[in-house]
Amino acid sequence: MNTNQLSKRLEMVASFVPQDTILADIGSDHAYLPCYLMNKGRILRAIAGEVVAGPFDAAVRNVSSNGLADAIEVRLANGLQAIEDTDCVETVTIAGMGGTLIASILEAGKDRLTHVQRIIAQPNLHALAVRQWAAENGFYIMDEEILQEDGKIYEVLVLERGKAEYSNTDLLVGPVLRNKQSEVFQAKWQRELIEWDRVMTALDQAAQTEEIRKKKAALQDKYELVRKVLTV
Ligand code: SAM
Repeated sequence: MNTNQLSKRLEMVASFVPQDTILADIGSDHAYLPCYLMNKGRILRAIAGEVVAGPFDAAVRNVSSNGLADAIEVRLANGLQAIEDTDCVETVTIAGMGGTLIASILEAGKDRLTHVQRIIAQPNLHALAVRQWAAENGFYIMDEEILQEDGKIYEVLVLERGKAEYSNTDLLVGPVLRNKQSEVFQAKWQRELIEWDRVMTALDQAAQTEEIRKKKAALQDKYELVRKVLTV
């Protein structure tokens, strides 16, 4: 991966960035995504936010070597603290982290989202936390994609301002993804069902304490929800 060639995963994130937007890429690491979008003439300007010194330095180097220092500002900051009101950021990308971390970053910095119309999140796991955050904070899921790269499955969630009600199943598997029923979607949840089945069998063999019983019941509920969603 470099500033002109993204991974399939980040390419999918990039595909949802509106033309001529002002972007903040949070957890930008090497700033590949904002550099790529600037080089392609897709965005007007960007902030690359990074909380760790090493990746921050790598981002500064990449922005500079691409001659993009006037258009992309790299900021050492925790989460959405990278965004100032005067930046007028319209689109936020936040990719390659766990869903729980993404949701906690959005929650901690929601006062920074004043001008933001779209959030594109790519949680590596537990996308449910991001969907839940969206539903509780005036965003709805306008699109979702799922893809496989190097044996791993990734979900990309596109949030926009608006209200929507989601069932537990929607929150778990994604309201848009469940309608699309792609092959990768089927594969992801078939894999999960097999894993949950294995865990439930192990729980059956453990001493039947109240905690074990509750764990198994919760897993059984999730299993049934997902099984009903799958069309094959
Ligand atoms: N976004 C890139 C991608 O998808 O390829 C990089 C993903 S990398 C696995 C996650 C990056 O997020 C790391 O560079 C990490 O330092 C950064 N990060 C984690 N927590 C953060 C936070 N609270 N604020 C800003 N950056 C954070």
